[in-house]
Amino acid sequence: MDGEMIAEMHCHTTSSDGRDSPETVVLEAYKKGLDFLAVTDHNTFRGSILADKAVKLHGLNKPIIVFGNEVRTTRGDILVLCDKPLQNVSKDPWELREEVLGNNCIMIAAHPYSPYEPAVGDLIREDPRLFDAIEVWNATNLPYLNRKAWKVARELGKPGTAGSDAHVKEEIGSAVTLVDANDNSIESFLEAVRKGNTTPIKGLPGFKAILVHIAWGIKRKL
Ligand SMILES: [Zn+2]
Ligand SMILES: [Zn+2]
Repeated sequence: MDGEMIAEMHCHTTSSDGRDSPETVVLEAYKKGLDFLAVTDHNTFRGSILADKAVKLHGLNKPIIVFGNEVRTTRGDILVLCDKPLQNVSKDPWELREEVLGNNCIMIAAHPYSPYEPAVGDLIREDPRLFDAIEVWNATNLPYLNRKAWKVARELGKPGTAGSDAHVKEEIGSAVTLVDANDNSIESFLEAVRKGNTTPIKGLPGFKAILVHIAWGIKRKL
């Protein structure tokens, strides 16, 4: 496996506020033919650790699990992607940056201009060195918010990524990033993102996935 690979960069499981277990999400990603799956539960690497176990348990050759965490920092949500779970995860973006750089991880600004979740917004202009890439397409965000993120990424010369931000399995892979990596290791994957060898593919969840997402949102709040 080498060249352009299909990656889901942003999704949730029962390890945070997702409806489906890491195992279910893995099997869904396998069915949809995804090469890499970054499981990014809120404030924990647990979902990705369990997803990695599920891949091994089922003896699957893919997806390759990227260890992820959507960290709610003091300045908004930041996706941290690693080749192994990070031990210390600070809420301060600058402290987090130190931990990330010391462990060969990357930081991606999640849905930076979303008014619905805590988002880093113009922190990406204030200190662009905090981020390896910017999520320029989040399938749950309105197109004009994504366009704004896309424009800022272009201005700053930052790599762009797309992700589904799935909270139900139907949404997995609704927006993916093509990553041109040297091989199928997580290290090569992370390096390819750093270098900007990424093509964000604008995608939206299908009608059924949107309904299931809304139903899950209502149930979660009850
Ligand atoms: Zn969530
Ligand atoms: Zn998310």
